[in-house]
Amino acid sequence: MIAEIIAIGSEMLTPFRQDTNSLYLTEGLNNLGVSVAFKTIIGDNLAQLTAAVRTAISRADIVLFSGGLGPTEDDLTREAVAAALNLELHRDNDIVTDLYKRYAARKLVMPPNNAKQADVLAGATVLPNPNGSAPGQYLDTVVDGHRKILILLPGPPNELKPLFDNQAKPLLAATLPPRHLARRQLRMPLIPESQVDARTAPIYQQYSDIETTILAAPGEIQLHFITAKPTLAEAQARVDELTSRIEAEMQEDVYSSHGESLEEVVLLMLGLRHLTLSAAESCTGGLLSQRLTAIAGSSRYFLGGAVVYSDALKTSFADVPADLIATHGPVSAEVARALAEGIRTRTGSSLGISITGIAGPTPGTGPDAEKPIGLVYVALSDGHDTQVKQLNLFGDRERIRWWASQHALELIRR
Ligand code: ATP
Ligand code: MG
Repeated sequence: MIAEIIAIGSEMLTPFRQDTNSLYLTEGLNNLGVSVAFKTIIGDNLAQLTAAVRTAISRADIVLFSGGLGPTEDDLTREAVAAALNLELHRDNDIVTDLYKRYAARKLVMPPNNAKQADVLAGATVLPNPNGSAPGQYLDTVVDGHRKILILLPGPPNELKPLFDNQAKPLLAATLPPRHLARRQLRMPLIPESQVDARTAPIYQQYSDIETTILAAPGEIQLHFITAKPTLAEAQARVDELTSRIEAEMQEDVYSSHGESLEEVVLLMLGLRHLTLSAAESCTGGLLSQRLTAIAGSSRYFLGGAVVYSDALKTSFADVPADLIATHGPVSAEVARALAEGIRTRTGSSLGISITGIAGPTPGTGPDAEKPIGLVYVALSDGHDTQVKQLNLFGDRERIRWWASQHALELIRR
């Protein structure tokens, strides 16, 4: 069963408004095992809307409409569906009476055009709207020998959501075979999307019943899997099988298989190995520390550190010899090493991590003047050994800083 969502309203074709209802509806449909194959956003125009309805019923089993059910000239959803399916609209007297009562309760006289909200498609079930005046409609019908379900919902999110959840969804659930949804997610840092796809596509393509999405997030690639089966156990077993096979292929590149963030995994790893960590950050200005401390409970493993942006603070807070900075420049493997060792010794942590680099857009100065923007060094010291990594990052300041923190976390994890 596939669905299409049609969001109606000219305002969503401007730069100022977004169609968010369809996100909500998609989640609800997914939970019933129905995937959304098409979304259409269309203005308040009868001819265009009618054409969109025809297209939707030609390619989807279930069509959900959001908006265009109000009383005004530009509320055209009922008319468009009637025209596209060649159905009559009947004015429902109970709804009309109800509309009059609503106005009377507020000591207002109802304008006659308001009654068009009581027009019901032949064969449709009315879905009363406790939060507004336009009721929804649910039509289970046959078009050219194919069963089609059309659900008309009002546009205001506070009306649409309860109407969908409490009325449309139970009707839909009753007509669909029971489906249960399972999702899994694998995350891989600092690896190109094309490489992930080249290595994993031969595997996930064998699972046509699982929807696989590759998502490029800042500094990492995520693989999302989703499937629907008659029982939850079946659905879970199926996605678990696929994730295990992908993990076996990607090995250490996978840092998370249940959606944990990289900083969460790093803290977990520190806990398992009974290690503590401190950080000396220059170009990231505390971003790494911020990411780690954003995780509740991080204080057991992350002791803290220093933002040592100036040369003087690198010396006074992390004991980097001033002549080392003068000779090699603050953005150098030597200074990164000294920073990691210095902060580790100063704080008494088991591990010290450091980041120093040129985030741009202004170039480095002094001994760093000739070094390219995006040159970053990260170093990790454990008291015996210090690993130093040179990174040649690209992009704007924000990207370089984020990727530097991502590399630092990955250096700790590995
Ligand atoms: P009705 O079916 O009640 O006539 P409508 O969409 O025609 O709904 P409008 O007056 O156009 O009613 O919109 C009411 C409010 O709902 C507006 O703030 C509008 O931006 C919002 N809205 C309409 N459709 C959506 C949508 N798809 N996503 C988010 N907000 C929406
Ligand atoms: Mg509208």
